[in-house]
Amino acid sequence: MSYKNFPMVSKVIFGRGSFNQLGDILSPKRLNATAPFIFFVDDVFKGNAWLTSRIPLSYDDKVIYVSAEQEPKTSQIDSLVEDIIVKYKELPSGIIGIGGGTVLDIAKAVSIMLTNNGESKDYQGWDLVKNPAVYHVGIPTISGTGAEVSRTTILTGPERKLGINSDYTPFDQVVLDPELTKDVPKDQWFYTGMDCYVHCIESLNGTYLNAFSKSYGEKAYSLCKEIFLEDSLTAEESQDKLMMASWHGGMSIAYSQVGVAHALSYGLGYLLGVKHGIGNCIVFDHLEEYYPKGVALFKQMKEKHNIQLPQGICAKLSDKEFDTMIDVALSLEPLWENAIGKNWKKTITRDTLRALYQKM
Ligand code: NAD
Ligand code: ZN
Repeated sequence: MSYKNFPMVSKVIFGRGSFNQLGDILSPKRLNATAPFIFFVDDVFKGNAWLTSRIPLSYDDKVIYVSAEQEPKTSQIDSLVEDIIVKYKELPSGIIGIGGGTVLDIAKAVSIMLTNNGESKDYQGWDLVKNPAVYHVGIPTISGTGAEVSRTTILTGPERKLGINSDYTPFDQVVLDPELTKDVPKDQWFYTGMDCYVHCIESLNGTYLNAFSKSYGEKAYSLCKEIFLEDSLTAEESQDKLMMASWHGGMSIAYSQVGVAHALSYGLGYLLGVKHGIGNCIVFDHLEEYYPKGVALFKQMKEKHNIQLPQGICAKLSDKEFDTMIDVALSLEPLWENAIGKNWKKTITRDTLRALYQKM
């Protein structure tokens, strides 16, 4: 038995208003006057002076607004990297992502591809990255994915939706300022928050579970229950706690895996472009058989916050389309092995998955 030796985020700052310290955090990392910091910022913040006026810019530093409407694609990463290489004589001093999981993943992937040849699709998988990435910083503005702490950046490529999982993927620095999440719309707060909740359920009920994952998973799970089922927290406390739940949920799956909901949700994402958070909710709603207690609690949370999930999204799909989703889901072997066990192929058949997708 050989154990995995995981890298972690090297530095983290936490606190409401800690975003104000970004200039002090970055300035020692500036390589020289011609090596800029490039800030990828969710375009929801365009024209929002409360946030953008605090982005510390000097020399050739640049803000690039990116849309989180669609999840990151390998082609998008390749073209962002190309633009940077063409525009600047030197590699950037750092790449900073300010946004949700979408923008954080873009920042991670760009920082990797600036120092590794070829196309980003060639690095989708496990431990394919050869060279260390450019210094990269993650600043979440919505909580739940755990992308701020994870060792992956999830990309949709020409053949699959799969992460670049590598020792060079985790951020060198994370800024956790819960105040940045104050204007997240309610439905989106729920969907992305439920990503964290589902991470906990899948990790805590998986066959890969160990004391490391369990300790983080249990903490995140109890924070989620407090946030989504009780009425005892102020808005600020709830923002603070969800940011920490996301962190712990991400740490929990670092040393285990996700499970059935994520496998099926990746299929929906690949074929229909359904986004990760809402996709997990749509799937998880039908997984009583696999996670009875977790799903029952999820339904209570949904009820309490008056969330209406889309129905019938697979109603009009062709056999070929079902097959595409099933192929994507089944290809995620570690997820199934974690969820069901070594002999998962005995119970998880194409028919099982088709029947599940047909309910959604
Ligand atoms: P997101 O980044 O897709 O953003 C969702 C919506 O919220 C967008 O419309 C965005 O503009 C908006 N938003 C973000 N911050 C806001 C704010 N402060 N105020 C108002 N609106 C705001 O959402 P997400 O759920 O955080 O991320 C999903 C992505 O994360 C997917 O691409 C998924 O693949 C990825 N993901 C990555 C990991 C990982 O470990 N790398 C883990 C889980 C999910
Ligand atoms: Zn997730």
